[in-house]
Amino acid sequence: MTTSVTETDTLIVGAGQAGVAMSEHLTRLGIPHVVVEKNRIAESWRSRRWDSLVANGPAWHDRFPGMEFPGCSPDSFVGKEQVADYFATYAEKYQVPVRTGVEVLSAERNVGHAGFRVQTSAGVFNVQRIVAATGPFQRPVIPPIAPQNSALLQMHSADYKNPQQLPQGGVLVVGAGSSGVQIADELQRAGKDVWLSVGAHDRPPRAYRNRDFCWWLGVLGLWDAAANQPGKEHVTIAVSGARGGHTVDFRHLAKQGVNLVGLTQSFSENCVSFRDDLAFNIANGDANYLSLLDAADAYIERNGLDLPPEPQAREFLPDPACITDPILSLNFAEAGITSIIWATGYVADYSWLKVNAFNEQQRPQHHRGVSSEPGVYFLGLPWLSRRGSTFIWGVWHDAKFIADQIAIQRQYQQYQTSDDL
Ligand SMILES: Cc1cc2nc3c(=O)[nH]c(=O)nc-3n(C[C@H](O)[C@H](O)[C@H](O)COP(=O)(O)OP(=O)(O)OC[C@H]3O[C@@H](n4cnc5c(N)ncnc54)[C@H](O)[C@@H]3O)c2cc1C
Repeated sequence: MTTSVTETDTLIVGAGQAGVAMSEHLTRLGIPHVVVEKNRIAESWRSRRWDSLVANGPAWHDRFPGMEFPGCSPDSFVGKEQVADYFATYAEKYQVPVRTGVEVLSAERNVGHAGFRVQTSAGVFNVQRIVAATGPFQRPVIPPIAPQNSALLQMHSADYKNPQQLPQGGVLVVGAGSSGVQIADELQRAGKDVWLSVGAHDRPPRAYRNRDFCWWLGVLGLWDAAANQPGKEHVTIAVSGARGGHTVDFRHLAKQGVNLVGLTQSFSENCVSFRDDLAFNIANGDANYLSLLDAADAYIERNGLDLPPEPQAREFLPDPACITDPILSLNFAEAGITSIIWATGYVADYSWLKVNAFNEQQRPQHHRGVSSEPGVYFLGLPWLSRRGSTFIWGVWHDAKFIADQIAIQRQYQQYQTSDDL
């Protein structure tokens, strides 16, 4: 049996938004490359999101510069299939040389000559460079406290599709970032009894004084922040584009009927216990919300903008009983809970990349995506260069930077003196 061998300069692994953006920039610089994708273009948007998910940012913002979302208002929040279609169309428009259905199994540096040998499900690639664009949210994380032998149905938010998937009875949603709050809201609206476990979070207003929060984060320079504030490394953002977009308001969710609880602490045979930190977490989320309003007001004043005042944005509903008199433990049978959804995030998985580009914790070691192993680049990681790095618009700019670094390296490598010729 012969093994197919493909030679190219740069291999981009993964054809999500990161891989597509990377290809666009390499093409612009005339750098030969191939994109390999184990599934379909933008697979994560097709099969790893729930059915009703829409983008968290409006269509004018959550896109690449080279193409608008066809057939929709720039202020609308497009559905996840439309996002996936967008990247597939984009890849066609920019003639991305993608091979779908090809999985990278391992990549190793050559010994004694330059470049890498990449073993895939469709043969070997001999390449000078690798861009790992396999996604920031690859392996769903369920914390070790999860009950092991429980009769409860447990699933990660990556596997949640719609309320019909769940058995009759109540549900505990653990995690109140954008996924957890949106799933809890959907389940409650579908008639389920829902408990939502709320940890530390930021919750920007959906819009303020006639501008979406994506605009505010842009003009205030917050998307460009190079690093998270100390102590906020694990703070998730709770936003929602659902039903035309709205501010995530935990008091409102409670009024609607969602039972709020603090951070999930531990499980015993039939019970779960929560930390007594709900009021604290809600107060910190409020402070984050109000700080954005303050910054926006100051920006408007400083720049003399004519944007309508919105004093009602500072009015909160009274604290519901679940905040003032928190539930600290629940018996599953008594509460009628039959399932748990873990909206507890993801980690990256670079087990295929056998090079010296990782630190002791096995995390990628890089500066703005340029790794400590020459010729290996990472794209799409949280805070790769800035807050925006995992988001659609942000990854495009990171890809541009990495393409430039690749072009610079190629120039050095191609240099020859007249003596060499
Ligand atoms: C629920 C949710 C909602 C989100 N909503 C938004 C939003 O509204 N706006 C926004 O800007 N961002 C959003 N994001 C963040 C981000 O835009 C997405 O996570 C996006 O999918 C990341 O793109 P990516 O290309 O980096 O990774 P992915 O889209 O995950 O693409 C990586 C690709 O690599 C492939 N791959 C992996 N391993 C291999 C291998 N060994 N060989 C070959 N191929 C491989 C995968 O099949 C996949 O297609 C959201 C994230 C989540 C989880």
